[in-house]
Amino acid sequence: MNYQLQCIECHSLYDPNEIIYTCPSCGGLLEVIYDLSAIDFRKTDECRSVWKYKALLPVNIKPVTIGEGGTPLYRTERLGEGMEVSEIFVKHEGLNPTGSFKDRGMTVGVTKAIELGMKTVACASTGNTSASLATYAAKAGIPAVVLLPGGKVALGKIAQALIHGAKVLNIHGNFDEALRLVREVCDEYGFYLLNSINPFRLEGQKTIAFEIVDELGWEVPDRVILPVGNAGNISAIYKGFKELKELGITDAIPKMTGIQAEGSRPVVDAIDRELAEIVPEANPETIATAIRIGDPVNAAKALRAIRESGGLAISVSDGEIVSAQRDLASVEGIGVEPASATSVAGLRKLVAEGLIDSDERIVCITTGNILKDPTEVVDVCAKPLEVDANIDAVRRAVFG
Ligand SMILES: *Cc1c(COP(=O)(O)O)cnc(C)c1O
Ligand SMILES: [Zn+2]
Repeated sequence: MNYQLQCIECHSLYDPNEIIYTCPSCGGLLEVIYDLSAIDFRKTDECRSVWKYKALLPVNIKPVTIGEGGTPLYRTERLGEGMEVSEIFVKHEGLNPTGSFKDRGMTVGVTKAIELGMKTVACASTGNTSASLATYAAKAGIPAVVLLPGGKVALGKIAQALIHGAKVLNIHGNFDEALRLVREVCDEYGFYLLNSINPFRLEGQKTIAFEIVDELGWEVPDRVILPVGNAGNISAIYKGFKELKELGITDAIPKMTGIQAEGSRPVVDAIDRELAEIVPEANPETIATAIRIGDPVNAAKALRAIRESGGLAISVSDGEIVSAQRDLASVEGIGVEPASATSVAGLRKLVAEGLIDSDERIVCITTGNILKDPTEVVDVCAKPLEVDANIDAVRRAVFG
């Protein structure tokens, strides 16, 4: 095997077959590191997907896959009108099999669970992780247990977790509490934990970086903007860009720019106040339920990603999120759930505040599909018109 687990704090190395999620000696986060000199990573024309980049994925068996990755990178046309930015792209991760980028992590994570001989997989989730885990566990033929913050998960996501056969627990508490509980349950019963603290799951998610570069003709954008919840994705994507640079395939790393919601912004605060660690937010609140997380487990990795890449972190209001969501849908045809729209809401705010150069080439990541959260969408849009079943009434309604 040409990879190991390494603690990001004390740099201790561990056997990748050990079932550990944090460093046994100091409690730090773990990451997968490769002997890059032994890696044969080729730029090919092969169709894009997570497994196109298997040379840089830590898996030795046949993958549990349902066709994840290969999502479109749209060059936006009207979204940037009035904004002094040269090129805005949107990478629409909502077009993964279950409707979010979590599938990239789960195809690798569930495959790893099988490779390690684990019998049950588990996670805490604001919704999309549970939908994805339930789906990949179903495909792999093993049981999944998911803990949700009761009453705070979008309807479409719960439906997915249920129909794909997971055991779904509505915890009477928030996401941070659900995560603490699932970690205990996994320790006690030997379930395999597939939250983003799992370093193998993040390996799948780093392929977002590979795909962006691949789609731009093996060039690196100046900046990548994305929502930050548990802070796994920004860390994973940064790692992907770093590996390409270390391999000599690219020569730069984009400025990693994380966006949080105003009511849930521990990473933004830590960046603003130049803190070494985040201060958890005890009562996170936002309409963007996927990032309603007060104590992000991957904060240490995310702070490094933002600082080392020269990036930024800002927060946006729920109103700004909803308006970006509506514009993505109505001028570009890109339907996303609220958390996903924070990337575009954040871009607008950064441009307005003069924090982005006008010649930047920017990629906004939209993390999840609009169909995930029908309740929110119906609430924020105008209601359908009620019309009697006769032609006069229809004429009045259409032209009224
Ligand atoms: C999980 C998720 C996020 C947050 O990603 P993290 O890795 O937890 O920071 C953002 N948007 C959507 C739609 C998600 O499902
Ligand atoms: Zn350590």
